Amino acid sequence: MLMNAYQRFPVTFVRGKGPFLYSDQNVEYIDCVSGIAVNCLGHAHPVMVAAAKEQSEKLFHISNLYHNDAQTALAQKLIRNSFHQQVFFCNSGTEANELAVKIARKYGHKTAPTKSKILYMKDSFHGRSTGALAITGQQKYQEPFRPLMGDVVECEFNNVEMAKALVNDDFCGIFIEPVQGESGIRAATPEFLQTLRDLADQHDALLVFDEIQCGMGRMGTLFAYQQLDVVPDVVTLAKALGGGVPIAACLTKDKANDVIVPGDHGSTYGGNPFVCAIANAVLTELVDHGVVAAVKERGSYTQKKLNLLRVRYPFIQEIRGTGLLLGIKFDESVVKSSDVVKAAFENRLLLVGAGDNVVRFFPPLNVTLDHIDVMVSRLEQVLETLVPQA
Ligand SMILES: *Cc1c(COP(=O)(O)O)cnc(C)c1O
Repeated sequence: MLMNAYQRFPVTFVRGKGPFLYSDQNVEYIDCVSGIAVNCLGHAHPVMVAAAKEQSEKLFHISNLYHNDAQTALAQKLIRNSFHQQVFFCNSGTEANELAVKIARKYGHKTAPTKSKILYMKDSFHGRSTGALAITGQQKYQEPFRPLMGDVVECEFNNVEMAKALVNDDFCGIFIEPVQGESGIRAATPEFLQTLRDLADQHDALLVFDEIQCGMGRMGTLFAYQQLDVVPDVVTLAKALGGGVPIAACLTKDKANDVIVPGDHGSTYGGNPFVCAIANAVLTELVDHGVVAAVKERGSYTQKKLNLLRVRYPFIQEIRGTGLLLGIKFDESVVKSSDVVKAAFENRLLLVGAGDNVVRFFPPLNVTLDHIDVMVSRLEQVLETLVPQA
């Protein structure tokens, strides 16, 4: 019936509340996946429910041939809270990156028809369309689908000298996740980000930050770049932007503004009133009601607890990340991250793996310390069963 695209766990969820999910057998699970960094307010948050109800009685959808007040309000709120000036709304992270590619290409073509190269990072993840996939530095995803979009060049993540050697005036864009999510919660060094900023300036290319996973408060600031001292020309958002409804955004500033003109790009659903009304409610909760401001403290509490597990279980090699963008790196010769995720599932704790033998620890951003205690102690029970027998 369904295309065989996903390997799924043997469970059907029918409802959720806060950090809990309930199966069709009414079994309670605690959710430390959050839809892969989407459900930033947990499940069935009252402000989202209220916004959905209210908007559904007014307007679900109109074409982007017309203005809609929910979209305008969301754009204003995002701009007010960022260093950027223009927004385009679309429906998924992949699409936001696809637009960022088009903006970089068109920007380059203003100077020269040959200024079309894009630098991307090894082990990056930017999405599954043939454009976004072309700048996703992972063979396993690209191989079956070649040829992909051309004129793209791979750089090792955090390799300053390599980036300097590669970038020249033929480049129109440089793409990076400030913290690589899918490949294992690996942070770019400040030196590397500054190098990319300098290279983009020297060669008149656009620096694009993909903050689809690390942005929207998960690191303790609404945007990751706000704590990195480097401001990108373009930033892409999705996942937690809608808190669970499909919405994404591509934001531009200064030289990246006004590249797109009528006829260049579009999206039937992009930024429709229904999703924007809900995203607005989410953003209000995140920014105005203190959810993001509390992430640092909740994050350091969680990191402390996870580090205690690391001391106790030496097959944990490292606790990675900032705020609540956390990864637990396991010693590959002892424990496979997929086995941790599986054993956790059997203990009704939902976790998701990442590359580099890492398990992501992604509670909702409004999680309470009590719920973190439950998550960590359940994880501890799981780890106890995975201790190698001497
Ligand atoms: C999830 C993700 C994407 C893709 O987003 P979709 O909404 O699945 O298209 C792109 N970049 C990063 C960093 C992501 O984590």
